[in-house]
Amino acid sequence: MEISSGRILNDHSAHPAQMKQNIIKSFIKRNLKLTDDKYEKEISLKIKRILIENNYPVKQIEKLIKDVLFQKHSNIIHNNNVQQNQDPKFVSLPYVKGLTEKIQYDMRNLENNIKFGNQPLKKLNTIFTNTKTKMRVPKYGACYLIPCKGNNGVQCSCCYIGETKRDPILDRLPEHVRKHKKISNGISNPTTDACLNHAIIKKHNFDFENFKVLDYVGNHFIRKDMESLYIHKYGKSAVNFKVDTQNLGESVKGVVQIFNKYS
Ligand SMILES: [Zn+2]
Repeated sequence: MEISSGRILNDHSAHPAQMKQNIIKSFIKRNLKLTDDKYEKEISLKIKRILIENNYPVKQIEKLIKDVLFQKHSNIIHNNNVQQNQDPKFVSLPYVKGLTEKIQYDMRNLENNIKFGNQPLKKLNTIFTNTKTKMRVPKYGACYLIPCKGNNGVQCSCCYIGETKRDPILDRLPEHVRKHKKISNGISNPTTDACLNHAIIKKHNFDFENFKVLDYVGNHFIRKDMESLYIHKYGKSAVNFKVDTQNLGESVKGVVQIFNKYS
């Protein structure tokens, strides 16, 4: 068992006696305090040999080794009186049965003025994370799409394209849902609302769960143009009235047709 390179400040060196005493004292402590009891004798002999080779008196070495071992086994390791009067240091350690006790024992050997607080490895807040749904930050102005899901096993590939200056999910979607609920309550006259109109005439249901925001656009004019472009892009699938694309220039429609052809 290797404990040191064997190089330590020689007792014949021109250093203060107290300094050399402290050096060999900490050398002995360092090597003995964390040593398992069954290796103490072996390590003590090695310490003794190294210190003798560095010209320290045998009696001094033996006394220091004896003192350190006494302190270690009585678990009263006070470096000096000042340290005894210091406030205890508090250390928080996670508790793992069998391991934490050993770590605490070893740490007390190095630092007597220490108190431990144990905490379970898993705290409740690591198991139950914040389950609150995060509040959506409103985002104003968007074009959106609501797919139709047909009815009674009849599939429908239509969709409604809309735009709003408000938040599409927080404000506009609930409005659509409320309007469509009225259909089941007996209100079935055709309206100017293209989405509602399709639902009433075809007796179809819109798939509000798959409500999709196509683009967030704050500017009113750009948003209107974009809505028209989307309606044009979806062509016959869009249940919107033709008037919704009236403000779209013919050249733009041509561009969209080319885009649709090659995309
Ligand atoms: Zn439909």
